[in-house]
Formats: sequence, C-alpha cells, structure tokens
Amino acid sequence: MKRIPYKTYLPEEKLPQAWYNVRADMADQPAPMIHPGTHEPMTAEQLTPIFIEECCRQETDNTTRYIDIPGPVMDYYRTYRPSPLCRAYHLEKALDTPAKIYYKFEGNNTSGSHKLNSAIAQAYYAKKQGLEFLATETGAGQWGTALSMACAYMDIELRVYMVKGSMMQKPYRKTVMETYGANVFASPSETTSVGRKLLAEYPDTTGSLGCAISEAIEAALSKGSDCRYALGSVLNHVLLHQSVVGLEAKTAMETLDEYPDLVIGCAGGGSNLGGLMSPFIQDKLLGKRAPKFIAVEPASCPSLTRGRYAYDFGDTGCTTPLLKMYTLSSGYIPHPNHAGGLRFHGMSPILSKLRHDGVIDARAVPQKAVFEAAALFAKVETILPAPESSHAIRVAIDEALECKKTGETKTILFGLSGTGYFDMTAYSSFLDGSMTDYVPTDEDLEKAFATLPKA
Ligand SMILES: *Cc1c(COP(=O)(O)O)cnc(C)c1O
Repeated sequence: MKRIPYKTYLPEEKLPQAWYNVRADMADQPAPMIHPGTHEPMTAEQLTPIFIEECCRQETDNTTRYIDIPGPVMDYYRTYRPSPLCRAYHLEKALDTPAKIYYKFEGNNTSGSHKLNSAIAQAYYAKKQGLEFLATETGAGQWGTALSMACAYMDIELRVYMVKGSMMQKPYRKTVMETYGANVFASPSETTSVGRKLLAEYPDTTGSLGCAISEAIEAALSKGSDCRYALGSVLNHVLLHQSVVGLEAKTAMETLDEYPDLVIGCAGGGSNLGGLMSPFIQDKLLGKRAPKFIAVEPASCPSLTRGRYAYDFGDTGCTTPLLKMYTLSSGYIPHPNHAGGLRFHGMSPILSKLRHDGVIDARAVPQKAVFEAAALFAKVETILPAPESSHAIRVAIDEALECKKTGETKTILFGLSGTGYFDMTAYSSFLDGSMTDYVPTDEDLEKAFATLPKA
C-alpha cells in the first residue's frame, strides 16, 4: 500500500491554469442579483459603476465552465501556490479515530488566509481596466491585508474600512496593511455620510461588516471614474477565483489515490468553502461521486442554519443590489463578545442555493467549543489556526470522533483557511476563561427579519 506523506506539495506545473465555475454545472442556477428599485436582474453593465468590469462579467457568467487564469495572476500565484494538502496523522492519533483526516492549508502567505487568491485577480483586472484606486472593507483583517498586498504589487492605491471592534482587537493588522501602502480607517468613520450618520446615532458602536461595506462603496463612488469597490467574499466571481483551492486539493488527492467522503469548511461569506468544494460538487452534480459537504458557521451568526432564504442587501446602508441568500438581515450585528470572525449577516448566493436544494449541509457551533478544537489542533499539528478555520476543525474532529464510535474509516477533507497569529485577544479570552457563548434567541432573529426588504 502507498504510504501517504504528511504533506503533499504539487509541483508548480500542476497549478491549475483555469478557474472552475460551478454555476455551469448547476441545473438549478442561483437566483440573479436584482435591482432594489425595479427588481429586475442586474446585467454586467449595470454593475460596472461599482465593481471592476471583468469581475462584473464573471459575476453574471453562469455558463462558462473554465475561465483561464491570466498570466500575471499565475505568476503571482506561483509565489505562494500550490498550497500543501496535509494528512493530519497527529490529530488522528490524538483522537484515536479510524478516520483519515486531510486539510488544505491556505495560511502560507502574509495575508494569513486564502483571500489572496481573489485579491490578486481583482487587482490585476482593475489595473488592466486602467483604474487607479480601489476601496474595500475588512472585518477580521485578512481580506484588507490580502488586497493591500495585491494593490502594492499591481501599483494601485487602496483605502480600507476596517470594522472598529476588530481594529481594537488587532491593531497590528492596520500596520501590516499600511506597510503595503494602504490607507486604513476604523469603521464607522467620519469620512462618509453613512459613517457619520451611524456615529451620530450610536457614538459608541464598534461597527459591523455591513456598515464598513456601505462606507467603502460610498468612498469608491464618490472618488470618481477611476475608482471601484472590491469585495473579498460572498459574490460569484470571488468563489470562482477561490476554486483554485479545490482544484489543487482534488489533484493532490488523486495523486494519493484518495477521495473525500466528507468535505468540511467554515463559512463566513462562503468563499473558502465554495472554492474548496466546487470541483467535488461538480462530481456530485454530474452523478460521478456522492461526497457529503458541511458548511460550519458560528452559533452567534447563524445565517445558513437559522436565517431566511430571501432577497436582501449586502450592507447596512442598503446600497448594494439585492442578493438571494440565507440572511439574518443586513441590520444584524453579532453580539460584541463574538470573537471568531465569520460575522457577515448573509451568505454566498451559490452556497445558499446549494444548501436550499439539499446538496450541502450546514452546522452552527458555539465559540468555546471552536477554541477548544483550535487549541487541540495547534498542540498536535503545530499550526496555530485562525478562529474562523477552527470552526471547520471543530466539525472535522466531531465527525472523526463519530467514526471512532461507529468504526467507519471515512476520509475527511477540511479547509484550514488561515492562521491565527493576529487573534491573540480572542485566544487569551478563551484561555483566561472570560469567553462566553452567546446564541441569539428566536425573538432576536425575528426582530432582525422584520427589517428584510420586500422583494
Ligand atoms: C475571511 C476568512 C474566512 C471567511 O470567509 P469565507 O468567504 O467564508 O471564506 C474564513 N477563514 C479565514 C482565515 C478568513 O480570512
């Protein structure tokens, strides 16, 4: 029998040359983005005042199965990809499980996450279009860091709105972004009318991702024709760029004669899981294989497990087109003691549709259990995981322990989307026992649902 190595690195020439667009194989397509006023589907042209042109084309392209990765993006990918597929031998041993556990590790670049895979593509297309500025938001800070890196590389100016609560927890994220030349503001800020309005109403607010998105869109639109807004998750084109993760994982598993029974990933906006699972979803949609998929989310921000499948705005200021997705409503703000990222109120329309159609499952986990899994993983596998990624670790461990009970030798693949070096405030509140689990009540959620737009 073949001995499976701890780490499988594909050679550089095995880097995927094209992204995979899972929508091309979905018989039932995700619902289109619609205009909040007319309720008509948005065309690529109508999206171009806000987003980078090529991204608008990719966003609305439901038919092209493979899209070539441009040469300069490939060259940049080569600096940190292919990323390793790891066999978690040490974790298996610690759990005494018959399951085989694999993880695809995306934390091996300075942004500390998979976000760079889309950041470099978006910055490249922006440059090609002749844009000089981009504006974006960042929650936990990985996306802001990734886009700062990509904009430095492509010589584009960048403004980042970082959720204030997160900036207070991770001040050095700002310094990293500034090192790459980005201008970083705590959101809500005084630089936009959305921010000023929120500050007047709630002077002590620690902000939200939805508000930071509104500020970044306003900043991009007011800057003029050579500036656009860039988003690091949720949208179809971002999931497309992240397919590089899944394509590599599938090729690497093939070289080991392996195939997952179960694919697990954390889901904030859905991009790392969407990317990891897309080539395996293809097998399932085409009837070739029948793996199971689990999207894992925080119990304090449970869009896929307790949200409504409805048209909603992507931001608090209600400026985006409407997206059909599982949502807690755009005004929903997770409880302040929630530490682990994944705080977006909605979810990728692709993931939402797959969930709605029963192709994937979802599970919500409370944060103390997540950090317990993170600490165990760090001790035995040596990588200090991001709190976000640790949601996937939690469920991978739970599934492996279930295999121990039943004696099944399942092959589990999970996405280790990033590292947690900037998350020491969260880790220390876990370690000193001050971390609590907050789960919203049904009344909390009903109050939020009442504000959903009528579409
Ligand atoms: C941003 C981020 C996530 C959540 O975003 P998705 O779009 O759901 O992937 C998860 N893990 C890490 C490390 C991140 O930076």
